[in-house]
Amino acid sequence: MTIILDGKSLAKSTEEEISKRVELVKNKTGITPILATILVGEDPASATYVKMKGNACERVGMGSLKIELPESTTTEDLLLEIAKLNQDPNIHGILLQHPVPKHIEERKCFDAIDLAKDVDGVTCLGFGRMSMGENAYGSCTPEGIMRLLKHYKISLQGRHAVVVGRSPILGKPMALMLLNENATVTICHSKTKNLQQVIKQADLIVGAVGIPKFIKSEWIKDNAVVIDAGYHPEKCGDIELEDIKERSEAYTPVPGGVGPMTINTLILQTLIASEHLLK
Ligand code: NAP
Repeated sequence: MTIILDGKSLAKSTEEEISKRVELVKNKTGITPILATILVGEDPASATYVKMKGNACERVGMGSLKIELPESTTTEDLLLEIAKLNQDPNIHGILLQHPVPKHIEERKCFDAIDLAKDVDGVTCLGFGRMSMGENAYGSCTPEGIMRLLKHYKISLQGRHAVVVGRSPILGKPMALMLLNENATVTICHSKTKNLQQVIKQADLIVGAVGIPKFIKSEWIKDNAVVIDAGYHPEKCGDIELEDIKERSEAYTPVPGGVGPMTINTLILQTLIASEHLLK
């Protein structure tokens, strides 16, 4: 029977666990774990994501500090804000909402975030550590997918995983996380030749392309594990899921699969960043 990788319910039950652990930090230290979010500019989608992240903090009893900067912010202004947050002992996690306006050097700003507060897993240092199997906060979407696979006991060892997409926040870290769990990994991107044939070989497929229903269901073999990271206003993802629901080993529904795990991972990692106070 096909397993539905239900991110919505896993995120909900994990929120209950996070709330208890937040309470413990508060009771034992008198300190509330706080996530700082930085939003630069006026992009409405980004503003919505930041709001959702603040709401999630509130639901589990954590604090959130919202920093909103104008479109005219320079790289230097932003680096200064990040430096202040790095030094502030009351801040446990920092999230710089992507994308920032084009004139800002986004990579430089991501990399300015203190590794200990990089709960969104965006720094090169964190990425490098994660890829070497060392301790680091993972990029939230792929880390959330790994948590989902683990929760549903999906075996990864020796599986041929095909990741379509190689963005720094999703496809690339996803591929390395799967590799760390002994999957055999192929990464595809816009220059990949014979994409359909490559996907045909996948025991596990991750769609992280950003184009609605780009990956057709007939490209996917029976009994594969199907992970759709995409989410589009049409309420569909990057994969055509219709008959996959009957003939896959497991799949993530859209909505309710990968999406809820991303913010859940962000608040979980913020909590973990604050738990050093207990030591
Ligand atoms: P992105 O930065 O735009 O990257 C898209 C990737 O897809 C790139 O690596 C690109 O290849 C590849 N690609 C584009 N066209 C292709 C084609 N015709 N054939 C093969 N590969 C192709 O997007 P992203 O940020 O990784 O996001 C990917 C998807 O995940 C989107 O649907 C987004 O909404 C979703 N997402 C969801 C969450 C969540 O919380 N659920 C979070 C982040 C993203 P090149 O590198 O060659 O250009």
